This record gives sequence, C-alpha cells and structure tokens, in this order.
Amino acid sequence: MPKSKKTKKEEKIASTKYERISTTSKTSRSVSRRRFVDTEEWVSKHINELVSSTGLDFLNLSNEEYIAIFTRIVDAVRGDSSTLDMDTIVRRIKRNIDKVYSLIAVAILELRGQLSESQIEFIVNNINEAVLLYAPRLYNEALKLARTDLIERLKDSWRHAWTLKRYPILPLQCPRCGFNSLMPDLSCLVCGATVSEGELKKALNFRNMLIEFAHKESLEDVKKAINYGYVYLSSIGIKPPGENKDLLDVEVFLTNEERSVLADIIKQRESEK
Ligand SMILES: [Zn+2]
Repeated sequence: MPKSKKTKKEEKIASTKYERISTTSKTSRSVSRRRFVDTEEWVSKHINELVSSTGLDFLNLSNEEYIAIFTRIVDAVRGDSSTLDMDTIVRRIKRNIDKVYSLIAVAILELRGQLSESQIEFIVNNINEAVLLYAPRLYNEALKLARTDLIERLKDSWRHAWTLKRYPILPLQCPRCGFNSLMPDLSCLVCGATVSEGELKKALNFRNMLIEFAHKESLEDVKKAINYGYVYLSSIGIKPPGENKDLLDVEVFLTNEERSVLADIIKQRESEK
C-alpha cells in the first residue's frame, strides 16, 4: 500500500526527534518503497503482543496511548529495515530497555494531562536528560503527592543532566524548592519562584560564606568587595567583584553590616602580618 503524505511527514518527525537506537545494515535502499511496512499500522495490529512481550503492561495505558508510544519506540529501533518482525523488534526493545524507558517517560508526559502515582514514579525514575524540560511539572506532581523521595531523585537527575547537557557549573540552589536552578535574576527554573536577596542569603548562610571568603581570598580582593559593595555568588562559593563574572553568577549586594564584617577581618589579617 502506498504511504500517505501524512505518514511520511510523521515518520520524518519521529526520525529526527528520536535517536534511532539500533540499526541493521543499510539493505533497504534498493527495496521498493511500496514494500515498506508502515510502523503505526504494524504496531496497531500487534499492540497486545508487543505490550505483553516487552513487559510494559504495568504502565496501565489505554490502547491508543500504547499504540502512540509503541509507534515511537518501533520507529526508533527498526532502523532502516523495511519490514518488521516481532521477535527482532522485541529483542531490540529489551536490549535497549533503558533508552526505551526514557522515551516512554517523555511520551507519557506528552500524551497525558493526568498522571497516576505509579506513572509519575516510572517517569521520575526514567526521565534522564529530559528532566531539564519536565522538572517543573514533575516537581509539582511529586509535591502534590508529598513524595519527597521522588523530589530528591529528580534533584539528582537535574544536577546530572544540567552538567552533562547545559553547563559545567550548577546554578545556585533555590531556597524554595531546593533544586540547583536559581538564575542570576533570582528566578527559579523549576518552582518558578523569584526570591529576594535576603531570602537567598539566609538560606545559604551567607554570613559564614562571607567570613570564609574574607579569610581565604587575597586582601586586595576582599578590599575590592568592600569598595564595590557586592560579590558574585555561585554554587561554588563567593567570588570577588570585577571582570570574572560567570554566566550563572548572582550579583549580591553587601549590607553595611556585611562590609564591616569584611573590614574587621582585613584589620585582623593585616595585624597578623
Ligand atoms: Zn525553586
């Protein structure tokens, strides 16, 4: 049966959006396109067998959802093969189960407005790098269920994915949700809050950090902080003001009291010379 335009377009989207996982050698080039088995059609016909033989019945999805999800999975694992064979597909799914699980996690998030607790659990445990996109929703869902264990797991995945995909340095920890997701304008990428400098300082125990900074950095840099009236704050610690601002550094102003803490330490250090 010739393929419709829509199917071709869908296929293009599927193949660009999802990494093809395992491919056979490129034998399909010479095969007439008319013989190409349509993934969705094949999946619809074999959906029950696919679900039971891959052990994915525990997800408790509707038939339509299973078909939508398995169409993505089979598209990802079929490679260039023009025909589809149940044993081969099931074997490839099982062999790449980690990647398949994270593909399913994203697919469920896209397909469903409402998620059951076990689905949220499955998604949190398998979301991998897509956590960077879905953390706000998953955080809210886990919060509603009071599942602190899932929130902690999400935080771990977030940190891991952030340093792997976004930037080598983590953002500051948000005082509200606890994710390393606070931007230099003090807005949080995960919980959406915007915090005040005061709240941030309190949560980080800023005074102790400042004392440590004043003892550790060169006298010149500590004096610079007093003169400029601010420092840079990051997940690594406090940095003196000036040219060395990093992308994620938060500029925090020093109160008169904080400046005098620095001045006292300078005095103390100079007298010890
Ligand atoms: Zn937050």
